[in-house]
Amino acid sequence: MGSGIDKLKELQAIDVEVRRYELLLKRGPERLAEVNHASAAAKQREAAHRLAIREAQKEVDRKELDLRTREAEIEKLNVQLNTIKTNKEYSLIKLKIEGLKADNSLLEEEILDAIGKVDALKADTVRIDSELAAIDAERTRITAEVEKEMSGVRGKLALVKEARAKVAAGVRPDFLDKYERILKGKDDARALAVVRDQTCHGCDMSVTTHELTLIMKDTDLVLCRSCSRILYLE
Ligand SMILES: [Zn+2]
Repeated sequence: MGSGIDKLKELQAIDVEVRRYELLLKRGPERLAEVNHASAAAKQREAAHRLAIREAQKEVDRKELDLRTREAEIEKLNVQLNTIKTNKEYSLIKLKIEGLKADNSLLEEEILDAIGKVDALKADTVRIDSELAAIDAERTRITAEVEKEMSGVRGKLALVKEARAKVAAGVRPDFLDKYERILKGKDDARALAVVRDQTCHGCDMSVTTHELTLIMKDTDLVLCRSCSRILYLE
């Protein structure tokens, strides 16, 4: 036969390239998914931040309304004081006013705390917004990069596949059949393995002298007993 294994070696070199391009084509969408995910997460953080500010502001508003309500109540009680007839009644209302004033002074402290919380959240807005902007800029950059890469890879892959078809057409059909079946099961796209020092370099299994003789005869394909790659000599 003679030419069989040489043709397969040629095909093997092309298939390694095909596999490399196919991996690159798979990697592109993966990178896009990564940046899209990061961007969505940043948007979610930003939305949560805005919500937190709104909630904190509501808390301030609630407490301020509460304060004003009590102040109005105090005012009303002060007016009432002028119309009071008995000392007992007077003392009761005075007591009530003191209680409300004490409540309000606590409330004023709480309002200051709540305003402080709003301010702290707002101070963080710049950081969160610039983080989001940076992530989106990165996403735009990578998307353009990936799209450019993908179209380049698709072009190269088409050329390599064309070359492959030409080479495959010159391979003995039964050899090609066997080769392609083995190729399908190999993640590294290597269906051939060189024999050096009487060892298969696909898996390091030793090759018997009988097998070596068969390989040298070059009339049929000899497969490695361990990794089932097609063996050849340099
Ligand atoms: Zn092997």
